[in-house]
Amino acid sequence: MAALDPGDHTVDELRDALEDVDDTEELQAILEAERDGKDRKTAKEAIEARIEAVGGEEAQADEGADEAGGDAPLDPGEYEMAELGPALQEIEDVDDLRAILAAEEAGEDRAPAKTLIESRIEKFTADEGDEEGGIDLAEDSVADIANALRSMEDLDELRSLLEEEEAGQDRNAVKNQIENRIEAVEGSDEEAEAQLPPEEKYPELDHPTADKRHVRALEDGVYEDTWVYCETQHGELIDVTKEMLGKARELMDTYNDDYGGSEQGSEGSETKSRAADEKVVAVLIGDDMAELAEEAIRYGADVAVYMDDERLGRFLHEPYTEIFCDMARGAGHPFGREDKQDYDWHGYDEPRYTVFPATNNGRDLSALVQAELDSGLASDCSDLFITSAAISNPAKTGQPGSTKTFERILHMKRPDFSGFEYSTILCIDKPDREFHPQGASVIPGSFDVPEPDPEREGEVVAHDMPLDDDWFPVSITEHDTLEGGVDLTGREVIVALGRGIGRDPTKGIEVGLDLVDAFEDADLGLSRGVITASYEFGGHVSDYVAEERQIGESGQVVEPPLYVAAGISGAIQHKVGMDESDTIVAINTDHDADIRDFSDYFVEGDLFEVLPRLTEALESGELDVEALADGGGSA
Ligand code: FAD
Repeated sequence: MAALDPGDHTVDELRDALEDVDDTEELQAILEAERDGKDRKTAKEAIEARIEAVGGEEAQADEGADEAGGDAPLDPGEYEMAELGPALQEIEDVDDLRAILAAEEAGEDRAPAKTLIESRIEKFTADEGDEEGGIDLAEDSVADIANALRSMEDLDELRSLLEEEEAGQDRNAVKNQIENRIEAVEGSDEEAEAQLPPEEKYPELDHPTADKRHVRALEDGVYEDTWVYCETQHGELIDVTKEMLGKARELMDTYNDDYGGSEQGSEGSETKSRAADEKVVAVLIGDDMAELAEEAIRYGADVAVYMDDERLGRFLHEPYTEIFCDMARGAGHPFGREDKQDYDWHGYDEPRYTVFPATNNGRDLSALVQAELDSGLASDCSDLFITSAAISNPAKTGQPGSTKTFERILHMKRPDFSGFEYSTILCIDKPDREFHPQGASVIPGSFDVPEPDPEREGEVVAHDMPLDDDWFPVSITEHDTLEGGVDLTGREVIVALGRGIGRDPTKGIEVGLDLVDAFEDADLGLSRGVITASYEFGGHVSDYVAEERQIGESGQVVEPPLYVAAGISGAIQHKVGMDESDTIVAINTDHDADIRDFSDYFVEGDLFEVLPRLTEALESGELDVEALADGGGSA
C-alpha cells in the first residue's frame, strides 16, 4: 500500500507532495497505485520523473561512497564502449548494475552505454522473474524466445522446453530455435571431449606415445647450403649418392649465380655482380668414412662432414638420425646439444635444403631427420630445381586474396598416382611457422652420375659427439651376406619378362635368360605380375624368380640404353620403373597392349618365338644391338 494515494490529489498537488518522498520503492508503489486507479498520463509522468531524480541522487550517493573507498560498482565514465561490455559481465548484482546505470546517466549519459547496462539488468531481472528459466512459451514472442535461448546451456532444461512447446502451441519456428540450441550445446560438449588428450579420453588403454617429444620449428632461423646424405655400401659410395652430389652441385652453382648480390667496384661508383656462396655439404656416417668423404668432394661437394664409429658400420636409424641432426644444427640451436661447437664454415641454424636417396635406408633416415628438424619431406622425387614460387594460398601468404612470391624454393618433382601424373612439391614457410630444411628423397637413377674431378678441392671435417648407448640396443656380433641383392641399375641391357610367359613359365625364363646371355652386359628383370603369379618353375630357373628382380613402382627403377619387355602389358606401376630407358623394345601378342604407347619398337608376336629369334640374330651378328639402342636398328 502506497504511503501517498495519488487519486486524492490533482496532478499539481501530486507534484508538490512527491517532493517529500525520497524512497524509490515508495515512489514505485505510488506509480502502481496511479496505474490501478485514475491512470492519468501526466500524473504517471510526474511520478516517473521523481523516481528518476531520486535514482540519480542515490547513484551520486553511491559514487560518493566509491570515492570514500567503499565496495562500489565500476564507474562507467572510466570505460570506453568496447571495454564496458566485458567489464559489466563481471557484475551480477542488479542493484550494482542499477547504480552503474544511474552513474552513467548522471555522467556522460551515452545512449549505447545505457543500453548495455540496461540489457545486463534485464538479464537478471528476467531470470528473477521467471523461475522456469527465463522463457515463458505462452507469453514470449518467438524473437524473445530465440534471444533467451542463447544463454541457456542446460540440455535437460532445453529438452523439457521443447516438450512443453510440442505439447502446447507446437510452433515450428520455436521448435527449430530450441532444437538448434540443443545441437549447439551438444556440439560444444563433443568438441570439448574431442579436445581431451587421448590419455584422458581413454584412460583404460595403453598410450605408448604419451611421452612423445614435440620439436618446435625455429623462429627467424638462418638457413644455408644443400646437404646431401651420402649412403655407402661395402665401403663405397653407391651410385645414387654420386648422382645426388652431381645434381646438388648443379643446383648450387645456379643458385649462387641467381642469388648473388651486387657490390661496389674498387673505383667506388661501379657495381659488379657477386655470386652467392652457398655450399654442397656431403654427410657420411659409418665406420671408416674419411676416404669416402674425400671422394664426395671429387663428386661435387664443397664440404664433407663425416662421423666414424665402429658401431655405425650398419645403418641404425636412431644414431644416424641423431648424428645427422647434430651435424646440421648450428651452435646455440634451441633444440640442439648444449655444448655443440659450430664448424668454421657453418654459422647458420639449419641447412636450407636436404637431399637423401630414396633407398630403404635413405627413406627411413629422410623421414626421421625431417621430422626431427620439424620440416616436411617430398619422397621419391625424380627431379629438383630451385626457383621462386608465386603462392596465393592464404595459409602461406597470411592474407586471403593476395599472391606472394617466395624466393629460393626447392621444387621437388615426383610421380604421383602411380606415375599417371607428376606433382611438384613445395615446402614453404607459413607466416608464423618456418619449414626448413626443404627436404627431398631422390629415386636412384633420376640423375646422371657425374664425372669425378680429381683436382676438386674441399674441406673434410670429422664430426665428434657423444653417442648414447641407448641408441644401440642391439649389437651385431656376426653376419652372413645372403645370396642375391641384384642391382639392375647399371646394366646396358635389361630383358624383362611378364605374365606372357604363363603358358610355360620355366621355358619363358629360359628363353629370356638365353637372350640375356647373348648380350655383353645384361640382366633379367621381371614384372610384378610374374612375382605374384603362382607359377611353378623348374629348379634351374627358380632362383631367378625373386622380388629383387622386380621392376617398377615397388621394385627397381632402371633406365638402361636398351630395355626389352616381353609379355608385359605396360601397367603404370611397371612403366614408372622403366620408361626412362633409352630404347624400349616390346614383344606382345596383343596389338593394343598399353606398352605399345611408350615403346620405340613394338613386335607383335609370341615371346616364345620372338625371343629365341632375337638371340639367334644377336649371336650370328645379324642384329646390331648398338644401332638398335640408338634407335636405328631393325627388328
Ligand atoms: P599382365 O598385365 O597380365 O600382362 C601380360 C601381357 O602379356 C599381356 O599384355 C598379354 O597380351 C601378353 N602376352 C600373353 N601371352 C603372351 C605371349 N605368349 N607372348 C607375348 N606376349 C604375351 N607391377 C610391376 O611390374 N612392377 C611394380 O613395381 C608394381 N608395383 C605395383 C604396386 C601397386 C601398389 C600395385 C597395385 C600394382 C603394382 N604392380 C606392379 C602390378 C601392376 O599393376 C600389373 O598388375 C603388373 O605389372 C602386370 O604384370 P604383367 O604385365 O606381367 O601382366
